[in-house]
Amino acid sequence: MKTIPYKTYLSEQQMPDAWQNLRADMPHCPPILHPGTLQPVTLDDLSHVFVEELAKQELSTEKFISIPGEVMDFYRMIRPSPLVRAYALEKALGTPARIYYKFEGTNTSGSHKLNSAVPQAYYAKQQGLTSLTTETGAGQWGTAMSMACVYYGIDLSVYMVKISSQQKPYRKAVMETYGASVTPSPSNTTNAGRAALAENPDTQGSLGNAISEALEAAMTRDNCRYVLGSVLQHVLLHQSVIGLEARAAMDSLEEYPDVVIGCAGGGSNLGGLIVTYAADKLAGKASPEIIAVEPASCPSLTRGKFAYDFGDVAKTTPLIKMYTLGSGFKPHANHAGGLRYHGMNTSLSQLYDDGLLHAKAVTQRSVFDAAITFARTEGTLPAPESAHAIRAAIDEALACKESGESKCILFGLSGTGYFDMQAYQDYLSGAMDDNIPGEETLQSGFASLPQIG
Ligand SMILES: *Cc1c(COP(=O)(O)O)cnc(C)c1O
Repeated sequence: MKTIPYKTYLSEQQMPDAWQNLRADMPHCPPILHPGTLQPVTLDDLSHVFVEELAKQELSTEKFISIPGEVMDFYRMIRPSPLVRAYALEKALGTPARIYYKFEGTNTSGSHKLNSAVPQAYYAKQQGLTSLTTETGAGQWGTAMSMACVYYGIDLSVYMVKISSQQKPYRKAVMETYGASVTPSPSNTTNAGRAALAENPDTQGSLGNAISEALEAAMTRDNCRYVLGSVLQHVLLHQSVIGLEARAAMDSLEEYPDVVIGCAGGGSNLGGLIVTYAADKLAGKASPEIIAVEPASCPSLTRGKFAYDFGDVAKTTPLIKMYTLGSGFKPHANHAGGLRYHGMNTSLSQLYDDGLLHAKAVTQRSVFDAAITFARTEGTLPAPESAHAIRAAIDEALACKESGESKCILFGLSGTGYFDMQAYQDYLSGAMDDNIPGEETLQSGFASLPQIG
């Protein structure tokens, strides 16, 4: 084997110029249904809500979709991202495992979200749209979208989950710096927001409800569409740049991972990271273990149901078959805001159902314990979401120490934690708890599932 450098960067010429579609290798992936007719949605159905090119990608079964030149231009400003060998972490753990991570937090938005925000804003511009609406939970997606929209000259309205806007006031300031208008959700500016406030005036908001507000706003404005930063197939498609770059870098080191790990909220960074390895697995060419890591407080894969569900609380989206806790599930206000969604991308849900993807739920304090070990060894301050993947990677590496196996572990470090210092402080001061929903909470979420034959 070659001597492995700490960091491996591709050159700009080696950056992928086409996205890879995981769905192309999964003909059995369940279609999105129209909630009225219960028939598979058409391009026309989706184009009322979504940017048309994104709607096309949502339905596409093409394996490769070329990345437009103007998107490549933006990608070149922020990519490639580094693949890092975690020598210091390995040493601290005393493990024979080789640990690599693909770090997506080097851009100002601080996460992988910009990889999808850029093409989404670009295609909106191409269509002649003048504004977009979206929601943001932890704030990363809203930040990424505001950066992309200002670049392509599109107005952006962001509905930000109220608890997050309180926990992270500077996120709002960053979005406003990039020209977006930010409304804490639920708000009294939409029917969906007013309904949520009427039901519970003290509500801290939820991602599902913010989606309802953003959708409603998009439908009532001219020349406007709604964009989403996770869960959907076109978002996974864009995030394949993570996995394509990681694969090229790993190949150049003559490394093939035994284990690939990512945190999973709606599944986009994980789906992007694993794209080529999952394709190998589906083709029977190799069998790397693929692990999705989710919070024990919002366990859509490990405790959810594989069922058709709505993407939002107001039940206005098309129906997606996914592992879900029900759109009415109310997750505890844990500190990994990006992992607080009730469902999971369809392709990943299907892979999990097929036994090709494993899932692991981890508790909040064990995640922060891993985050701090990582920060103190590798030097990079991880986002709480990303630290879920670190937790699982460390556990794998410690298992190798027990067994003496020298596995190759690749994980996705989806972002940095600069805006999450309240969470770190809570952990360090002992004020953080582990919240695991009881059966009753889960049952009340499942009760919100639509009854579909
Ligand atoms: C949004 C976010 C996630 C979760 O979203 P996925 O679609 O599951 O990737 C994870 N990490 C970070 C840093 C995020 O911003």
